[in-house]
Amino acid sequence: MRKRWLIGNWKMHGNLAANKALVDGIRERLPVLSESIDMVLCPALPYVSQMAGLVADTGIMLGAQNASDHLKGAYTGETSPMMLKELGCGFVIIGHSERRSYQGETDGLMGRKALAAIDSGLIPVICVGETAEERDSGRTHEVLGRQLDAAFGYIRTAHDEIIVAYEPRWAIGTGIAATPEIVQAEHAFLRARIAQRDADFAQRLTLLYGGSLKASNAESVFSMPDVDGGLIGSAALNADEFVAIYKAL
Ligand code: PGA
Repeated sequence: MRKRWLIGNWKMHGNLAANKALVDGIRERLPVLSESIDMVLCPALPYVSQMAGLVADTGIMLGAQNASDHLKGAYTGETSPMMLKELGCGFVIIGHSERRSYQGETDGLMGRKALAAIDSGLIPVICVGETAEERDSGRTHEVLGRQLDAAFGYIRTAHDEIIVAYEPRWAIGTGIAATPEIVQAEHAFLRARIAQRDADFAQRLTLLYGGSLKASNAESVFSMPDVDGGLIGSAALNADEFVAIYKAL
């Protein structure tokens, strides 16, 4: 049995007061986490230290939304995954489609970032997903395969721990989630692709869905056999919604 996961990606939202209110809101609605469902919150970078204090002794874990592919050096404005680890992060989102779109991140960079994260003791949450145009032209598997292979070129399946998130770009922030059938089909594709490298690893691998998940559609997506949880954007900013999604797992 694989564990279940819920990861909140707060993107570039929040401030000191709002972050505290959101964590308090989650804790009020969910005083004790389930032993079989892990929760990770990924605040904006400047708030990682504040959040480490807020989630201390709660069982909630902390992640970052991005990190450098280098561990240290003359890289102005970048953040080393080792620094994130020191501040209390256990996870880092890698290759989110917003970074691919707005920061021009490539498949190769994603692979190097995943490796730097692993070398720093973080678990990378590797995001893959096709655009609407790629899906409409029948290229979904070609794109997912290419993105996955780029990351797995750097990963040692024998002992690295990673999470993969399927996030179709057309579903992120649009209010239009993929249907449970589409999610299952693509998760099965991803797991089979990874099984070609290492069948045991593929069975153990945590596969999350992300893209317009909310309380009203979470249960049907989570009921699919190859879905191990969710990566949540806008609904993670609302304690009622986020806790309801957690309870749907
Ligand atoms: P969304 O974002 O839930 O707002 O669609 C998901 C994500 O970007 O990870």
